[in-house]
Amino acid sequence: MKISLAWFLCIFLLLCLSFESRAYQWQELSGEHFIIYFLENKDFAKEILDKAEIYYRNIALELGYPRYSEFWTWDNRVRIYLYPDRKSFQKATGQPTWSEGMASYNDKKIISYVWSKGFTESLLPHEMAHLIFRDFVRFKGDIPLWLDEGVAQWMEELKRPHIKRVAKKYFQENALLSIDDMMQLDIRNLKYEQAVYIRPIRTKDGKEGILFLSAELLINTYYIQSVSLVGFLIEKYGSNAFADFCRELRDGKNVQEALRSAYPTHIRSLREFEDRWREYLEAD
Ligand SMILES: [Zn+2]
Repeated sequence: MKISLAWFLCIFLLLCLSFESRAYQWQELSGEHFIIYFLENKDFAKEILDKAEIYYRNIALELGYPRYSEFWTWDNRVRIYLYPDRKSFQKATGQPTWSEGMASYNDKKIISYVWSKGFTESLLPHEMAHLIFRDFVRFKGDIPLWLDEGVAQWMEELKRPHIKRVAKKYFQENALLSIDDMMQLDIRNLKYEQAVYIRPIRTKDGKEGILFLSAELLINTYYIQSVSLVGFLIEKYGSNAFADFCRELRDGKNVQEALRSAYPTHIRSLREFEDRWREYLEAD
């Protein structure tokens, strides 16, 4: 349930809705990489600024982007708008009632409201990870959705134990999608009215199998796998290799070529990527 909510959230965030912020007399609080705009609750703004700077360092470190600290300074700082309450946030952004915040990737804004549930622990690191990853990889090439969403979800650290548990369970139950599906499925354009999706899979014994999934379950599985694949690469082979992988993508290689370059002794094809990942799920 958590994952499908994250998915819905992201689709809305990806729309990069414009919003009206001029009607307010914003106060500013500036840090090295962020400017927080707020109206009255300065303590909360300060808390968000401190958290954002910590996330920034941790995300860049974990993705292996060592010189990333130069990216977001001065005019390039990310602006975070904090509306005084949910109602004013919704009115200004046109977001649905369940939305806790949004990001506009093109103009580097993250928008939420004071004491938004889930903003500081989930939405903030998630959206920052999208911004950092997209800045670094530059998104000129063919970046699959699972990689973008996987990176963003992996940085919601509180989710990790849940993700690991579920991915392992799906592996045991032969309920994982194939890597080909992960590369090709356009999960954003699923037709909800279709009741059941039939996907060819490999079982844990390496045999061919078939999975029958509702749209909701297919989306959940896709999102769990996305973050599990990214978590696997970072945990198993480290942040430096992951940065190499990202650099290869930035330089125009496709996912298979980039994997082969960054992990030459372990992953030479998408199939081997899937095999190594399955071994990781099976272990411990
Ligand atoms: Zn996202």
